[in-house]
Amino acid sequence: MCATCGCGNDATAMITVPHDHDHDHGGHHHDHGDSHDHHHDHGADHMHLPVTETITLEQKILAKNDLLARHNRDWLEQRNIVAFNMTSSPGAGKTTLLERTIGELDEVPIAVIEGDQETLLDAERIKATGCAVVQINTGAGCHLDADMLRRAFDALAPAPGTLLFIENVGNLVCPALFDLGERSKVVVISVTEGTDKPLKYPHMFAAAGLVIVNKTDLLPYVDFDLDKCREYVRSINPGVEMLPISVTTGDGMARWYDWLAKERFAASASLDHVVERA
Ligand code: MG
Repeated sequence: MCATCGCGNDATAMITVPHDHDHDHGGHHHDHGDSHDHHHDHGADHMHLPVTETITLEQKILAKNDLLARHNRDWLEQRNIVAFNMTSSPGAGKTTLLERTIGELDEVPIAVIEGDQETLLDAERIKATGCAVVQINTGAGCHLDADMLRRAFDALAPAPGTLLFIENVGNLVCPALFDLGERSKVVVISVTEGTDKPLKYPHMFAAAGLVIVNKTDLLPYVDFDLDKCREYVRSINPGVEMLPISVTTGDGMARWYDWLAKERFAASASLDHVVERA
């Protein structure tokens, strides 16, 4: 259960009707068994945890997750494995980005952990590239958490020095709050989404170490403003880099590989520093 948004627990789910509209559905009879009055007062008759209890539960879940994430980070560091937590809305192109990256980056061993609510479809796509992969299915859950990752590490057994991509569940909300032990979160959006996405999901963009804007080959056909998007991203996360790419044409992919190389270098440099101090 995710106390953050209430997914997987109907008791904390909140449904809001955004605008007033006519509830007469033109002759369709909706028999909900208990009542024919659909104009009841929302908030009075639904079971919700009191706000203070919900916040306490959320803090407990996140504190437990943070502890497990620290263990994951130590486990990865001991093996010189650099991990990136890939997040996006569904359909932004995370799996396709990984497929191309696996095909083009051959100087380093790569492994992938796939997260989806159901199916092995993305893991099968990654497996077809010859890359080591495991799939986590979260069922009703909307995000990966550090405990799931710990178990995935055991199943995957990545070799020391591996570049590890964790493809999170397609969702820009809860994955922002759950540290998995990764070096950095990479947020992928695409030009078929709104320019204002960073403003709508500020927690995710604030947590990002890199923002990728995919599908730039479609820019002539869609109403997406790259400069405006960069401005929105920077208003939330001033230091973050925004990388426009097209996984389809390969445009901008070299800068993504440069960024990965820079991060891997920085990660191993900080490890050397730890060794020197020890
Ligand atoms: Mg995918």
